[in-house]
Amino acid sequence: MSSIKFINELEATHTTSLYGLEKIIADNDNCEYLFEAANRVRQKFVKQEVHLKALIEISNICAKKCFYCGLRSKNKSLKRYKMSADEVVSCAKEAAISGYKTIVMQSGESSAFKDDEICKIIREIKKFGVQITLSFGEKSFEQYKAYKEEGADRYLLRIETTNQALYKALHPNMSLKNRIKCLENLRILGYETGSGLLVGLPGSSAKILARDLMFLKKHDFDMIGIGPFIPATNTPLEHSKAGEIKLALKANALTRLLLPEINIPATTAIETLDPNEGRKMALRSGANVIMPSITQGRYHDLYRLYPNKFCLKESVAEIYDRFDDMLALIGDKISLTNGNSVHFNQRQGL
Ligand code: SAH
Ligand code: SF4
Repeated sequence: MSSIKFINELEATHTTSLYGLEKIIADNDNCEYLFEAANRVRQKFVKQEVHLKALIEISNICAKKCFYCGLRSKNKSLKRYKMSADEVVSCAKEAAISGYKTIVMQSGESSAFKDDEICKIIREIKKFGVQITLSFGEKSFEQYKAYKEEGADRYLLRIETTNQALYKALHPNMSLKNRIKCLENLRILGYETGSGLLVGLPGSSAKILARDLMFLKKHDFDMIGIGPFIPATNTPLEHSKAGEIKLALKANALTRLLLPEINIPATTAIETLDPNEGRKMALRSGANVIMPSITQGRYHDLYRLYPNKFCLKESVAEIYDRFDDMLALIGDKISLTNGNSVHFNQRQGL
């Protein structure tokens, strides 16, 4: 059966049944129809503007052992780094001067940075008048609170998958329950809260993905990032099959249809699978954020979540100009607002 009636229902009402989602995911004959619907909803609710956010990968040290990730602690072949606070702040300053309105700091999950250090970095970066997004994994309520009080605005913590068995199999010594608790804490603390999925993981299915998307809808996140799984060397999944780009684009489009006002990045993993068209395809199927890494030199090469991670070996300002040009070609433009999602602004009554 064609999934068109479910796509139409989603475009009109932003809801459908679990059955409808599963049908759309399994139907490979109507992908363009789905992408066009998501593109219309994107243009209606968040316009032709794209938020450009600068990503600094501040450390690749990680204490966790997620099966899919090249930064997992058991990967002893990876040289580990921690940027100095001065390096992070000066990189952020360059980005702010170049026009980026948001600085995203990401790292493996560890205590390589002490909380005092993180708080100091946040304080310094806030002086440049930018918004700050953090993505340091699972932390305690008190830690999230401390970062927020220093001026952090947003937090990204993907749920990856909501399937208990799959989550457990891929995340030793971690729990879905705690991950959800962290997301709830972030929301309570007033963060603009982002989550997301890793799609095409070995052991996943259309049914699991449909449930994952329903979870995202129910939790009403402000931002959602969806990336295809890419097998990483020196991990237990190194010989597994990669997720399909089409599946990631479909999940991206479904997310836009379910949550029309949120921010959705065109993820680096999508771009890695198709360096020429991936980013554009994601922007034409619901995405409205680009988060290029501006981590420089040797650090950038060592932040190896998966191999051949797409990267631009250009200066922070050149990367800005490159996207300005690229977006003009497809009729979009870089947003000059602070990068909040329409959804978050409405929640705040802004
Ligand atoms: N340590 C933090 C942030 C860094 S990891 C955390 O785990 O939340 C950021 C994201 O990289 C993860 O959420 C995961 O979805 C993605 N990732 C890790 N390994 C990947 C792989 N092999 N393929 C695609 N994405 C991957
Ligand atoms: Fe560490 Fe995050 Fe990779 Fe898991 S996904 S191993 S927490 S960096």
